[in-house]
Amino acid sequence: MHSNIENNTKAVKDLAAALGFDIVGITSALDFDDFEVIALERLESGLMDGLPWYNAERVKRGSKPSELLPGARSIISLAMSYMTEPPSVSGNAFMGKVGRYAWGPDYHKVMWDRMSVLIDSISRELQVSIRAKTYCDTGPMLDRAVAKRAGVGWYGKNTNILSSSHGSWIFLGQIITDLVLQPDSESKKTCGQCTTCIDMCPTGAIIAPYVLDNSKCISFLTIECRGEIPIQMRPLIGDWVFGCDICQDVCPVNRKAKPTREPAFQVGEHGFTSLELIPLLSITDLEFKQRFANSPIRRAKRSGLVRNVCVALGNIGDISAIPALIHTLKDKDPMVRSHCAWAIGQIGGSLSYKALEVALQEESDDDVVAEITLALDQTNQIIKTTI
Ligand code: SF4
Ligand code: SF4
Repeated sequence: MHSNIENNTKAVKDLAAALGFDIVGITSALDFDDFEVIALERLESGLMDGLPWYNAERVKRGSKPSELLPGARSIISLAMSYMTEPPSVSGNAFMGKVGRYAWGPDYHKVMWDRMSVLIDSISRELQVSIRAKTYCDTGPMLDRAVAKRAGVGWYGKNTNILSSSHGSWIFLGQIITDLVLQPDSESKKTCGQCTTCIDMCPTGAIIAPYVLDNSKCISFLTIECRGEIPIQMRPLIGDWVFGCDICQDVCPVNRKAKPTREPAFQVGEHGFTSLELIPLLSITDLEFKQRFANSPIRRAKRSGLVRNVCVALGNIGDISAIPALIHTLKDKDPMVRSHCAWAIGQIGGSLSYKALEVALQEESDDDVVAEITLALDQTNQIIKTTI
């Protein structure tokens, strides 16, 4: 005979599956002591630098679910796949790569709305009034620690949660509740001897298995980094303009990942699977807000995205981008002008040299002046080596 807890657990899982969640696991609301120790160590060693909201207080709160919801008994760990294939792009425009998670609409709203419906459905189906709080990539809740303990997946050496069915192409959501449910067992799977993601990361950001140095990660540099991208990192970014998928694309577990069945995450021809670079150099604040209103890309803000576009064009190195870049040397944001000067310096040529000389005369920002001077040296070297 099934206990009430088992019946309720089955009902919760069935309701979650019916609402489109691909994986659902349950864990207790006990403290995450191990995680707290590791996370605090990483914070202290500077590996999370540049994420101001990720601080010790947040880690400590997140490690104690009963502080987030007094009386909490269970956490429902949910995963929804966002795996789709990109539509083919025709033409020969300069294109920048976008991380797969940002190809469709902002996932937070999709996940929050769905979790809210799930909570209502649980109350209705079980005929109980439950207290619950939802999280999706926000607040102190430890999404990956919860997913691991709930058996949704295991930690990959690239620090993503890997699931057997959908790989790491999953959005994670959590519902913390006072409902008593039957916890699942942790996954026994591991990456084994594989080190592909570590070997293939272009920046060496995975400094050891399961340890990511944020300051080297292209995802951090192109999304969360609000200021200058360190000059030594720029050539390593290639043509990524928002995020980076390399350590997921190369992961053998992801080869078998099932595609998403969620209509909201299907990428049509208007999705942002890649971005045409030259038009973005002159995008206005208003155009940026309108175009990316419902996309995760808006997180980079206009200046951050145009900065990334400059870096990508510098790395692509095609001289036909120079006229548009020269125009961007007058951008209102000094950070954009700096990266634009760098890009022009990378591409080189006599037109570049002349444009940088003019910009140097007109520039009043000390940091930009320094970048233009460096770019002029770089251009000079390219001219000398090609004579
Ligand atoms: Fe490296 Fe890109 Fe993965 Fe960051 S997202 S760890 S840069 S491969
Ligand atoms: Fe693990 Fe290999 Fe995937 Fe890296 S590439 S996360 S080591 S299975």
